[in-house]
Amino acid sequence: MADKLRALGITHVDDVLFHLPFRYQDRTRVTPIGSLSQGREALVQGEVRLAEVVNRRRRTLLVRIADNTGSLVLRFFHFSQTQVRQFEPGVQVRCFAEVRRGPGQLEMVHPEYRVVKADALDSGLADSLTPFYPATEGVQQPTLRRLTDQALEQLGSDSLRDWLPSDAIDSAAMPDLVTALRIVHRPPPEADVNALMQGTHPAHRRLAFEELVAHRLGLRRLRSLTRHHQAPHVTSHGDRARALRACLGFHLTDAQNRVLHEIAQDMSTPEPMLRLVQGDVGSGKTVVAALAAADVVEAGYQVALMAPTEILAEQHLLNFADWFDPLGIDVGWLTGKLTAAKRRAAIEAIAIGRTRVVVGTHALFQRDVEFENLGLAIIDEQHRFGVHQRLALRQKGEASDSVPHQLIMTATPIPRTLAMTAYADLDVSVIDELPPGRKPVTTVAIDASRRGEVIERVGKAIGDGRQVYWVCTLIEESEHLQAEAAEDTVTTLESLLPDCRIGLLHGRLKPLEKEAVMQAFKSCELDLLVATTVIEVGVDVPNASLMIIENAERLGLSQLHQLRGRVGRGDAASSCILLYQSPLSVTAKDRLGIMRETNDGFLIAQKDLELRGAGEVLGTKQTGLAEFRIAELGRDDDLLDAVSATADRLLSDHSAAVDGLISRWIGESRKDYGAV
Ligand code: ADP
Ligand code: MG
Repeated sequence: MADKLRALGITHVDDVLFHLPFRYQDRTRVTPIGSLSQGREALVQGEVRLAEVVNRRRRTLLVRIADNTGSLVLRFFHFSQTQVRQFEPGVQVRCFAEVRRGPGQLEMVHPEYRVVKADALDSGLADSLTPFYPATEGVQQPTLRRLTDQALEQLGSDSLRDWLPSDAIDSAAMPDLVTALRIVHRPPPEADVNALMQGTHPAHRRLAFEELVAHRLGLRRLRSLTRHHQAPHVTSHGDRARALRACLGFHLTDAQNRVLHEIAQDMSTPEPMLRLVQGDVGSGKTVVAALAAADVVEAGYQVALMAPTEILAEQHLLNFADWFDPLGIDVGWLTGKLTAAKRRAAIEAIAIGRTRVVVGTHALFQRDVEFENLGLAIIDEQHRFGVHQRLALRQKGEASDSVPHQLIMTATPIPRTLAMTAYADLDVSVIDELPPGRKPVTTVAIDASRRGEVIERVGKAIGDGRQVYWVCTLIEESEHLQAEAAEDTVTTLESLLPDCRIGLLHGRLKPLEKEAVMQAFKSCELDLLVATTVIEVGVDVPNASLMIIENAERLGLSQLHQLRGRVGRGDAASSCILLYQSPLSVTAKDRLGIMRETNDGFLIAQKDLELRGAGEVLGTKQTGLAEFRIAELGRDDDLLDAVSATADRLLSDHSAAVDGLISRWIGESRKDYGAV
């Protein structure tokens, strides 16, 4: 049984208590037949008036029962002779099922039933609503009910302490822990079942509240553990950073300068920095990271820059090599696609400290990668890395009993809800200003049947000296299929736009080929770049001012926003055409509408959260922390202020409660998280 329960995440008695029903049945009272309404489940009791087997399309047993308020038909398609005999006129039966509208009157199809004594209307009724739990193979409802019965019986002794301050609970009009658990598992007959099932009942909210407090405590605890480590001391505005600034060819925006200052302050203290830099697509996060990196190198430490995809890592490599080579700083490269020999050489150069700055993908996390003295880890596009990877990286420098500073860059704005939950262990800086001259991108949505017009428009734009992206999207994960679709598009466009110079970029090209195509597009040797979504992140060609996105209805909001961010980077007015296949679903229509209405990444992220839910926005299960057992961010976010206030209080004056809550809600199931 223990093995089977583990599949439900139940390893401890407490877990039984926090495994909540998802629906209930009311078997606490007998409903008069005359007051039944269709579509509701009910318990009824009546006297058999007539039972007959009819042969219409299917052999059917029809039993008419009645009480003194009305009558009802029970309908059986599968039945035995014994059953037919059981329903002798005059016998009393008690039945439970959903009430449906039959041909002539209300009926129940295959109800649960049993024969009862006529005078026993009050006996055998349930004391509370009957719960239904998420079940699994070999663990059915009766087992789960028996287990919760046992666990509830033990409640009230000191087995389950209520750690939350009672005034916090009272002021939110929520019951105490034990009461809440009793209500949720065995609701009294008069309980508001709808509120319980939707999770808005005060008892349910009490549990969600505690869970949110526990998660916040977990993150704060993690944060303070990290703080206890030593971190490299880095002073700002060294020679290298100054030299780099001088050859940029532009001035930093005020927002970039402010964020850089915040980073410099963090790195000048002996505590490890843990900072998230959020800035909309094109706001110039990379250069901020590079300037911070220059100071870390100046202080004698190494820097790692990690990106979620090969192509984005390559872009960073090009930028960083451009910037650091003239300064005599060696930039290394480490991804999963290196040959064994190259990989060995790269790892060796990192280990002995010849490489001062290393750019790469997840490959940087691997065990055999050891730094001579890592001082700063930069992670680009945070939303694709999970909390666990964040932790793994944090541990990289720990051998030398100093922990590297961490800088995380994301284009995805962090809605308040997430800032207060999944990101509660981070400090946040925002680059809330785009470099001068950026113009909003005009966006239209056009039915794919009008493709011809769109291609004409592309031809005209190119005639005017503009450059164009044509993005092919496929829902399939297969790079191969994506590449094929892009090749087909190139063929079509070549025949329709014979004067255009068309390039092709997809994930199956070799790194050198990709680079050559990007370079050709950058230097205006190509007019039109047909690409798969590999260009989603990072690609930067300011002269491109028109983008066509195919099958836009299949993409999520943040992906559309990222893609569209590739245009609108130069002086020309830019536009984006979202091609879609009819008919559109309601959410697809919503998404395209939002893209037409706004360029504001923050607004888009908020809508995205509303349409998809937190887990998915963060890259689903990866994050661990966005997944709650009971709480739901969309539903319970009004609790968050009280949650953080309560968590702060417990942290300052009740460490036993902090330990208790963390181990109750996080401890067992997330060992590595707890261990850090
Ligand atoms: P993102 O924040 O999306 O990663 P990037 O760092 O790639 O943006 O910057 C986008 C482009 O803007 C790059 O070409 C970069 O060189 C340029 N850029 C960054 N900061 C400025 C600035 N202050 N003024 C002008 N251009 C800038
Ligand atoms: Mg970027």
